[in-house]
Parts: sequence; structure tokens; C-alpha cells
Amino acid sequence: IMGRKFVVGGNWKMNGDKNQINEIVNNLKKGPLDENVEVIIGVPAVYLAYVKSIVPDSIAVAAQNCWKVPKGAFTGEISPAMLKDVGINWVILGHSERRSIFGEKDELVAEKVAHALESGLKVIACIGETLEEREAGKTEEVVFRQTKALLPAIGDKWANVVLAYEPVWAIGTGKTASPQQAQEVHSSLRNWLSTNASPDVANAVRIQYGGSVTAANCKELAACSDIDGFLVGGASLKPEFVDIINATN
Ligand code: PEP
Repeated sequence: IMGRKFVVGGNWKMNGDKNQINEIVNNLKKGPLDENVEVIIGVPAVYLAYVKSIVPDSIAVAAQNCWKVPKGAFTGEISPAMLKDVGINWVILGHSERRSIFGEKDELVAEKVAHALESGLKVIACIGETLEEREAGKTEEVVFRQTKALLPAIGDKWANVVLAYEPVWAIGTGKTASPQQAQEVHSSLRNWLSTNASPDVANAVRIQYGGSVTAANCKELAACSDIDGFLVGGASLKPEFVDIINATN
């Protein structure tokens, strides 16, 4: 992991009500959480301010999406400026569900990333291939293409970016990438960044793995040298999220 602080995100997706949120937050407060791990929970927009008001400052809160300009006639959308205004400092962008269900293309994701970073938000930027793409031998091509689109958007703000490698076939399927499969992509992505961004960026940027991470498989994945954390969907709603946060212990 070479000095990169382990970072674990929870993506609640469109789940949770106040009762369940209170349970999840109480469980996180009880922990105990490894103090050397950065924790970020991705919360449905309507609950962001509520969650921010009940979590300890040591746990960051992220939106799961945002729009690409500060304000205006964009019915239903939320801007980075609004997130900042209610104390939210992180946003998850380019999640595979945004890409596949809501049709977000590389270019739009890049515009959102650029504006979020310009607005002072930190970004978890998600990339990853589908099963079809993997079986066609296109995993690297897809992951590099998605990351390439982000380069001009990120510019010199890499310190505020976490990349999440999430193979689509592993998200919500119970089918985790093996540690070898994940490490292989993380390592080649880091090499690609060394050439196409800079060696410093490649060394410093944290690359999370996401896709059916559980308490049972997290330690093996966390032991891989290029896996610097996780983005966790389903299991982030459960008590085992604490064990995933503590995966490097
Ligand atoms: C995700 O939503 O980013 C994710 C990885 O989901 P899950 O852990 O449920 O596969």
C-alpha cells in the first residue's frame, strides 16, 4: 500500500430510512473503527444533512451523484455548491448504475468530476468493465478509456480523487473478483497512470476495489499491494461494514 491511507466507502444506493440509518450510524459509532482508515459513507440525497448531523466528524459523508454546474434550471438535480453548503465534502461519480441505468457517458462523468473538484468537493470516481467486455478481453481497454476521459477533468487535483475499480459483473451479484483478478487490474491501471498522468500520481492515488465485498472476502483483497480500500454496496448497510473497514488489521 506504500503510504497510501486505506479508504473505505459505503454506497447505500437508494436504501435506508431514518430507522435503518440510525442503526447503521450507531453501529459505526460503536465500531471500533481502525483510526488509520478513512471512512466515507454515500447517502441518498434527502438524508445527507441528517446523516451529517449524527455521524462523528471522523466519518465523511458523500453524495451519490451531483450535477455539473452550480445552479439553474435543472429540475431534480443537486449541485456541488449545495452539497458544500450543507457540509458534504465528497461525491461518488460515474457509478456503474449511473452509467448503465441513467445513461451517463464518459464525457458527462468527466464534466461532473471537473465541476465537483472545482467546487472543492472530493470525488470517488468509479470505473469498471462489464462481463461482456471482460470476456472479450477488453478489461484494460475499457478501464483505461474511462480513466483517460477523467485526466483533463482532474488536472492537478489528484489529491482530491479516489478511483474505484468496480467490475460491473461483481456489483451486487455476490460474484467478487478474485484477489488476483482485482490486483491485476489495479496494478495495470497504476502503470497506465504512471505513463499518462505522472509517476507521482500513480504512486499516491488510492484505488479502491468494489464489487460484492464482504467481511468474509475483504482481508484477502486488502492484502493485495495495489488495493487501497473498498467501495462497498450491500454490505455497507450491515454490521459487517465495521469488519470491512478494519480489513487491514
Ligand atoms: C457498489 O455499489 O459500488 C457496490 C460495489 O455494490 P456491492 O458491494 O453490493 O456489490
